[in-house]
Amino acid sequence: TQYVYTFGGGAVSDDPRAKDKNITGGKGSNLAEMASIGLPVPPGFTITTEMCVKYLAEGANFDDQLRADVAAALNHIEMTVGKKFGDAADPLLVSVRSGARVSMPGMMDTVLNLGLNDETVQGLASVSGDERFAWDSYRRFIQMYSDVVLGLDHGLFEEALEICKEDNGFSADIELSADDWKKLVAEYKAIAERELGRPFPMDVNDQLWGAISAVFGSWDSERAKVYRRLNGIPGGWGTAVNVQAMVFGNMGETSATGVAFTRDPATGDRNYYGEYLINAQGEDVVAGIRTPQYLTKAAKEAAGAKLPSMEESMPEAYGELAKVFDLLENHYREMQDIEFTVQQGKLWMLQTRTGKRTAKAALKMAVDMVHEGLIDEATAVKRVDPMALDQLLHPTLDPDAPRDILTVGLPASPGAASGAVVFDADTAEQLAERGEAVILVRVETSPEDIHGMHAAKGILTARGGMTSHAAVVARGMGRPCVSGASALSIDRKSKVARIGANELKEGDVITLDGATGEVMKGAVPTIEPELVGDFATLMEWADAKRRMKVRTNAETPADCKMARQFGAEGIGLCRTEHMFFDAGRISSVREMILAEDEAGRRKALAKLLPEQRMDFKAIFTEMAGLPVTIRLLDPPLHEFLPHADEEFAELAEITGYGVDHLKRRAGELHEFNPMLGHRGCRLGITYPEIYEMQVRAIFEAACEVAEESGEAPVPEVMIPLVGTKKELEILRALVEREAKKVFEEKGRTLEYLVGTMIELPRAALMAGEIAEEGEFFSFGTNDLTQTTLGVSRDDAARFLTPYVDKGIYPRDPFVSLDIEGVGQLVELAAERGRKTRPDIKLGICGEHGGDPASIAFCEKTGLDYVSASPYRVPIARLAAAQAAL
Ligand code: PEP
Ligand code: MG
Repeated sequence: TQYVYTFGGGAVSDDPRAKDKNITGGKGSNLAEMASIGLPVPPGFTITTEMCVKYLAEGANFDDQLRADVAAALNHIEMTVGKKFGDAADPLLVSVRSGARVSMPGMMDTVLNLGLNDETVQGLASVSGDERFAWDSYRRFIQMYSDVVLGLDHGLFEEALEICKEDNGFSADIELSADDWKKLVAEYKAIAERELGRPFPMDVNDQLWGAISAVFGSWDSERAKVYRRLNGIPGGWGTAVNVQAMVFGNMGETSATGVAFTRDPATGDRNYYGEYLINAQGEDVVAGIRTPQYLTKAAKEAAGAKLPSMEESMPEAYGELAKVFDLLENHYREMQDIEFTVQQGKLWMLQTRTGKRTAKAALKMAVDMVHEGLIDEATAVKRVDPMALDQLLHPTLDPDAPRDILTVGLPASPGAASGAVVFDADTAEQLAERGEAVILVRVETSPEDIHGMHAAKGILTARGGMTSHAAVVARGMGRPCVSGASALSIDRKSKVARIGANELKEGDVITLDGATGEVMKGAVPTIEPELVGDFATLMEWADAKRRMKVRTNAETPADCKMARQFGAEGIGLCRTEHMFFDAGRISSVREMILAEDEAGRRKALAKLLPEQRMDFKAIFTEMAGLPVTIRLLDPPLHEFLPHADEEFAELAEITGYGVDHLKRRAGELHEFNPMLGHRGCRLGITYPEIYEMQVRAIFEAACEVAEESGEAPVPEVMIPLVGTKKELEILRALVEREAKKVFEEKGRTLEYLVGTMIELPRAALMAGEIAEEGEFFSFGTNDLTQTTLGVSRDDAARFLTPYVDKGIYPRDPFVSLDIEGVGQLVELAAERGRKTRPDIKLGICGEHGGDPASIAFCEKTGLDYVSASPYRVPIARLAAAQAAL
């Protein structure tokens, strides 16, 4: 296997692996691609992701073959640029960067200016004719290498720089002279030696191999693991390493470095969008140390910024860049996020990749590109990440509500959020776990804050531009973010922030508007989203491509209404027990379960009947003309038991029993393992009167709605937790008996179906027999996962995270279906069920019905519908379309 691929310098590899993201990573494959279409790419080479996996598996060792391949590839760079690595007179310098299959922002590490040492720095100074530049580059290298490769605290170096500036009365780095940098380099080396117990490496080959190891090793860093877990990226992919000739954006006023998008990543508008810094290196832009300048004149003017745009200050290089943007968009037919450097007037491309975008921008660009003729409708549908729609389905700030604006920062990631101010990621996580809404407020964020950013409703930073870490990560996570709110000063120790005369303490509530950059005092009211425009267009295209129906899991009329607006085509699961918990009803439910005998139960059930009927009427009315699956009572009776003394006292009053008697009765009903206990259809078998009441309520409601509206609903009565054909046979007879009675009383008959959930492995295995009694199967994959894995869905949180980290399960199996395992049971049950009853209706109603990967599996298995919670309905529609394409 070839593990090293070169790019640039005119040589174009015809090995398809060189441009395969899975092999050379996102960055490496795109560098190869750009070089092959003739864009100015500094020459370099990529060590493959496979090598990373091998390296990590084989105990961090490089073999002779790899060393030889790397030497040859390095020689390719040397020949192309006409400089030699480690040459004291005219040294080649390289960058070493990671690049996984998918970008993992801030997670992996970069080293620039590698190849500098006490000798080569002199050569660099004389060749560039700029001593200051050479020594500045050297000190950057020592600091970055020490941090990234040697694992030293970068604060030590920053501190030394701060002291140097203070001693000299400087306020900006730009004021340091060559001699100042020289002195600082000596200090940096001393710091490194003190911390390491050995000198900073002077051998350029040691530097290179150290950096390569560090990149590979960083794949398994804690931060990378957290990111992978949050984003469902498998640990087995590995990262590639890219080694590339350095070009310098810090060679004076005709040099610059920048990042850009070919369209606006926040709005999707067709404007070049980006930031650049004159006389700077790449990390300066991303780190938010200096405030970057705008790329285009229009953007600069719109923002009222003073510093000139690149379009104005470097018109030639800008013109080149604009040409490259168009070439890239036409080549990739996709919005690109690029990094570039201008070295003494000459433009170099350092990276291109598909740009991250907000959901709104994703929709707009997909729809626009169809209209521009760049892509077709199917591609547009495939291009929008279903999960990203979530951002659009949630409320935005009410434009008419008063806003007490504290300050305005950059609109870094859209959406609105209110919450309590917190100043560190750990607190954010702790409070969020308790269900509190928090806003994470930081000077700037770093990869160490990821967990807090995830836990927070929104993110506010004092520093950093639109491409800062906070902005990029927030956009990716769909969290609203306001960055670069420079009026904000934060005192982290005493946990207060000041904005002008206002003081914010931890816990004070603020609101962010990520679309405008406004930061407001208190909680500002929100309004529901409008599902029109690009959203509606794309969903229309998606609906035309989809085979499966999309239903919703809902049990209140309000949820039904919302789900219909989101496009639900019926109810796949109405959990009737939720109706039992209502304030006015729970005591009747308790009266029923604590009753001594059938007569006692029937008395309590009679009180519940009109309530249930009313529920079902409301739902049938809301879902007029659509199928409604109603599940009969499922949870263990255990769950309804009273706990508090007042609850027992109230029950004693209603039933006439003493409190002691009721407590003893409740004790008798206690179960050791209620999820495997007296629940599901077992309730209907032992207490048929419960199911009789529910069936009566369903059909009375259906008849009344048919009578009143003229449109007859089609109820689908669903029996939970069935494991045997006999159970379903008995309960189906019960349903038919009771339905018949109601029809006779009401003088009309209605169509209806009786079916079952498949939630137990036995049910899946016996699906052929069970289908004789059931007209539909709905896969209850929450329980089916629980029962197949033998993992309690209520207790799994404690160990599933480490399980996912260790790669035991690729993702949380309660979130994304365990296709390998549980999926087999679904396939098998579908096949056996269809064999018995070819027209059996098949659906899924576990949480997985709203998960795109699971939906793709359902499509493959040929299910008729998926059912998801209301907010997931549009996600499911899009995912179902993507699965069908
Ligand atoms: C299931 O088990 O997948 C299901 C939908 O039922 P519930 O979540 O109510 O147990
Ligand atoms: Mg279930």
